[in-house]
Amino acid sequence: MINAGIVTVSYIIATILFILALGGLSNQETARRGNWYGIIGMAIALIATILGVVTAQYIVLLVALLIGGSIGLFAASRVQMTQMPELVAILHSLVGVAAVAVGYVNFMDPTEHLTGVELTIHDIETYLGILIGAVTFSGSVIAFGKLSGRISGNPLALPARHWLNLGLLIGAIWFGREFVLQSAAGGGMEPLIIMTVIALLFGIHMVMAIGGADMPVVVSMLNSYSGWAASATGFMLGNDLLIVTGALVGSSGAILSYIMCRAMNRKFLAVIAGGFGTGGGAPAASGGEDQGEVDPIEPLETAELFLNAKEVMIIPGYGMAVAQAQHTVFEITKTLREKGVNVRFGIHPVAGRMPGHMNVLLAEAKVPYDIVFEMDEINDDFPDVDVSVVIGANDIVNPSALTDPDSPIAGMPVLECWKGKVSIVLKRSMATGYAGVQNPLFFEDNTRMLFGDAKATLDEVLKNL
Ligand code: NDP
Repeated sequence: MINAGIVTVSYIIATILFILALGGLSNQETARRGNWYGIIGMAIALIATILGVVTAQYIVLLVALLIGGSIGLFAASRVQMTQMPELVAILHSLVGVAAVAVGYVNFMDPTEHLTGVELTIHDIETYLGILIGAVTFSGSVIAFGKLSGRISGNPLALPARHWLNLGLLIGAIWFGREFVLQSAAGGGMEPLIIMTVIALLFGIHMVMAIGGADMPVVVSMLNSYSGWAASATGFMLGNDLLIVTGALVGSSGAILSYIMCRAMNRKFLAVIAGGFGTGGGAPAASGGEDQGEVDPIEPLETAELFLNAKEVMIIPGYGMAVAQAQHTVFEITKTLREKGVNVRFGIHPVAGRMPGHMNVLLAEAKVPYDIVFEMDEINDDFPDVDVSVVIGANDIVNPSALTDPDSPIAGMPVLECWKGKVSIVLKRSMATGYAGVQNPLFFEDNTRMLFGDAKATLDEVLKNL
């Protein structure tokens, strides 16, 4: 057992480590260190809480830790890189469900018997914790379904959906008020349950209505919600570390959502309202129909184009993650650089299926950071690029985002590779990308299609180099 002073000091150290972790994770070169800060901070937080805050039921706690820890370890070690976004979504849902559970337990079996204003404040904390927790839970489960392809990515556009949202919001506030009033008189369970059901429905409806390519914002928004849910739980339990940690996650998630919105030229409220860019919510009209002939290319000719180029721009997308082609991409980069070709990478902010997805893959393959550029840094350079290689990317190089106002990705800035001399697009078929729209880039005169699994075709290109 440790005393309250040591718990406080441990919590302060853990908080500092969490802040250092966030700082470290903002840059590839320091990300590994940042991760370690987070792991050590969490270990300190857990040990201080178990030894200094928990007073009974150690066996139950240890069994729960063992079961939860084993499931986490098993899931994390088995998950494929392409399944990471789904894993993150389902983990967010667990934070939400934990907040709901703590809220109910805290209400049914309060540790202190409060009265008057103190009780009202505590009830509001409980209400907020359960509300945010329930929205996070159901929203994250739907996000998990969409990201893993179990639920269609198309936006669900119910008639009068904005009114429905407004109705649910008013209902949640009304039953929250009823809960606080009835709780003061010794009741309150009924409005609390009704409010929870409303919050769950709201979470489902909110994420179901989001389609096109707006999911990145939702993923980071749910990340933010999970932080606020944890923070509200901290208030309920009077645990400072949980309050601070929740606020760190909540605010960093909110900042990330803002960055994602800016990168995609979206207004946050428009994303949340759903159905953006689909003419009132109908699925994209342009669908997946072909728009002419495409011009295929083989690995040998691709290698020749590479060797004759001075400037090569590699644009990785989700398909590179699926094919796990990043190591071959690195070998090709190394070979070309040794032959004097200037190879650079252009990274779209929403490439792949989670923020920073491409950066993680390229770092894993040891691609030097100084040749990896953000979209804004290199988009003007395409007229001077001899060969752009689009590896399993689709939506992020779709010119219709700039030309078709009815497209589900209308207004999203894209990597403008068609302005270069030649674009070589690697993909397996003419299938669409995440947003479900055909890509006019494939039919441009200066685009060549290299069909096949990206890893297999790039291995062939490397052999020919
Ligand atoms: P897309 O999903 O638009 O396109 C991926 C392409 O990769 C497909 O056209 C597919 O074509 C191809 N592909 C798949 N597997 C392979 C393979 N083994 N070998 C070669 N090609 C393959 O991905 P982008 O990265 O261009 O765009 C990301 C999309 O995901 C955006 O719409 C974004 O909004 C969305 N999104 C992003 C999130 C984020 O946080 N980054 C989160 C959620 C969604 P084919 O099947 O023919 O091979």
